[in-house]
Amino acid sequence: IFLRPWVFLRGAPAMKFLPPEGPPEVAFAGRSNVGKSSLINALIVQRGLARTSNTPGRTQELNFFVPDGYSGADGDLPPMAIIDMPGYGFAKAPKAQVDAWTEMVFDYLRGRVTLKRVFLLIDARHGIKTNDEEVMDLLDKAAVSYQVVLTKIDKIKPPAVEKLLAATEAQLKRRAAAFPEIVATSSEKGHGMDELRDAIARAVTD
Ligand code: GDP
Repeated sequence: IFLRPWVFLRGAPAMKFLPPEGPPEVAFAGRSNVGKSSLINALIVQRGLARTSNTPGRTQELNFFVPDGYSGADGDLPPMAIIDMPGYGFAKAPKAQVDAWTEMVFDYLRGRVTLKRVFLLIDARHGIKTNDEEVMDLLDKAAVSYQVVLTKIDKIKPPAVEKLLAATEAQLKRRAAAFPEIVATSSEKGHGMDELRDAIARAVTD
């Protein structure tokens, strides 16, 4: 499925704009600048992405991507969808914006039956920050399974990656909905991409 080109289906700024529930979904979440766009780009070949991603305002939307070539008619639905969640953790974000983010994301997490797993991206240089913890609280509360993905591991040395993996694993132990395995990736060097594709495939077929 990752060999096919994918297309941008739609951006949903609020619940009522979500596409109807259909195929199993996985979502990607993370602080702004964590490397989410780069990772999604590295995972899937996207047609027409540049155009859509440059649209201002898209940042606060849930963006849906599906493999190309399915009509959407009965019986011809794409086998899965990937949702790019709006980044969080802008230092200067006004409280109203943070609240709007939280409300939309929590509504989506709690209400979306077809959502199989959230991949929570953590910058390998920074580790889990307070706002990541807050998002994990939301995920635990919504009882949505999530898996941590370290990004930009090319920026730290291999022993530091090992240390971070161990520390992060320990942090996840006490969390109800966290998946124990962590995927270490670098979009730049192509590290961990096959592992991540496998994790996605397992999440949607579970
Ligand atoms: P987003 O805001 O989470 O979508 O982050 P982007 O994908 O736009 O990436 C933010 C910055 O991190 C950009 O300058 C990227 O070039 C850089 N970046 C993303 N992934 C990697 C990576 O794997 N390795 C390195 N060294 N830099 C990366």
